[in-house]
Amino acid sequence: MAGLNKGKDYKTVKGVTLYMMIFVSFLFFPPSSVSGGDRYEKERLRMVEKDIKARGISDERVLSVMAKVPRHLFVDKRYRSQAYADHPLPIDEGQTISQPYIVALMTELLRLKPADRVLEIGTGSGYQAAVLAEIVKEVYTIEIRERLARKARGLLEKLGYKNVKVKHGDGYFGWKEYAPFDAIIVTAAANHIPPPLVKQLKEGGRLVIPLGSTVFYQILTVVTKKDGKIRAKQIAPVAFVPMVGEITKRRD
Ligand code: SAH
Repeated sequence: MAGLNKGKDYKTVKGVTLYMMIFVSFLFFPPSSVSGGDRYEKERLRMVEKDIKARGISDERVLSVMAKVPRHLFVDKRYRSQAYADHPLPIDEGQTISQPYIVALMTELLRLKPADRVLEIGTGSGYQAAVLAEIVKEVYTIEIRERLARKARGLLEKLGYKNVKVKHGDGYFGWKEYAPFDAIIVTAAANHIPPPLVKQLKEGGRLVIPLGSTVFYQILTVVTKKDGKIRAKQIAPVAFVPMVGEITKRRD
């Protein structure tokens, strides 16, 4: 009997030890849901420090949002390991998701306020739209390629962005129904500023657009509208995929 009891006790002790080990390892290696992040969090924070903050982006709101939005979910699985690297990445249909620094720079240049309503032309993966949606009340984004529009809409919904509306169409004409906008961001290269976008920009509003040749590089430009007059300020050379559709038929 005694011998049997001994054996039982030993088993119990072994069981307790096992539970203890699981508990301790849980303390030191918590699953991502417990630590509050995902397994890309470290890379994302490195990206914000080294590639964004160190280059002069100082808007705290922009920095904290870039540290939060899961960029790796907006790229194809095979590029996931490069999602937080300092360069653009291919998305479907020969298009690209912009380099993180450029997303941060354009967002900062818009000088957004929480109550703002923003229009984006060129939804692409939906990443820039998600960044905007974390900062402002309403985001409207237009994508000319139907498949991309559908995919981005699905992902943004899945991630719980209820304040983003995605439309399939030519962004050249803006989105009259929800105009005027406090800010407009064009994320495809344009050889001129589409007049409907200027019209749909609020007085005192800001429009950020890569302006110039659609095949080589462009100059990131901030357009402001004051007393009905337009002023453009050139910021930095950039390289975006070309805006297509109506813009190719006009030379305003
Ligand atoms: N902002 C995107 C990247 C933009 S890539 C992101 O965060 O992933 C540029 C996108 O603009 C492409 O998806 C392209 O299909 C789209 N585009 C090009 N011309 C357009 C137009 N006239 N209207 C709307 N979208 C356009």
